[in-house]
Amino acid sequence: MNTPSDTAEIERIAAFRGEFKANEQPGWYNGYAHLAGTTSISVIAILVAIAALDTVTAFEWFTVPLTFLYANLIEYFGHRGPMHHKIRGLGLIHTRHSRQHHRYFTDEHMSYDSSADFQAVLFPLILIVFYLGLFALPTAALLALIFSKNVALLFIAVAVAYFLNYELLHFAYHAGPDSWIARLPLLGRLRRLHQTHHRPELMTRYNFNITYPIGDFFFGTLYRH
Ligand SMILES: [Zn+2]
Ligand SMILES: [Zn+2]
Repeated sequence: MNTPSDTAEIERIAAFRGEFKANEQPGWYNGYAHLAGTTSISVIAILVAIAALDTVTAFEWFTVPLTFLYANLIEYFGHRGPMHHKIRGLGLIHTRHSRQHHRYFTDEHMSYDSSADFQAVLFPLILIVFYLGLFALPTAALLALIFSKNVALLFIAVAVAYFLNYELLHFAYHAGPDSWIARLPLLGRLRRLHQTHHRPELMTRYNFNITYPIGDFFFGTLYRH
């Protein structure tokens, strides 16, 4: 039985979702195409990078765990910083995350109503291309100059794989708790951490990793309930 405040919350979220779709969603939007686009752009980038590798040395393989850790910290600080605090020049990131994603989904209302809601979780495709061009490629060029082409290619492959893993995990957390995705092993535990982050009173303080809580563990912001 819903209390009056539950009912008010359900109505508030339904109104926000309706408003978001009316203002931000083009008529041609298709959530499954968005998911397929994210996955295929990422998989193609990973395969192209791997195909260009040329006899990787033991030293070069270290790029894999180091890039993984680096990406985990970028995820952590990106989320703890500009996604939850207004920073000049990065205001759009704050709006998309704090003002839209967190109002669209709260800990009590974590799930999609339909595939039209995928837009409030997945990165816009154009931003993926933008971030790849702005961050991944210049870093890779620098790594190629300092170390080797293999190091640069492994960096791209792992960074993009990490991004795809982020998108798919976050996508799964917002699927219904009874769906087959939410019942995959490990997913339930990771989902609960993210659900805690969606509690409005905790969102600026705990569980900033969306994937694996390495940054949260090291910086004392892991909240288990
Ligand atoms: Zn979320
Ligand atoms: Zn957040």
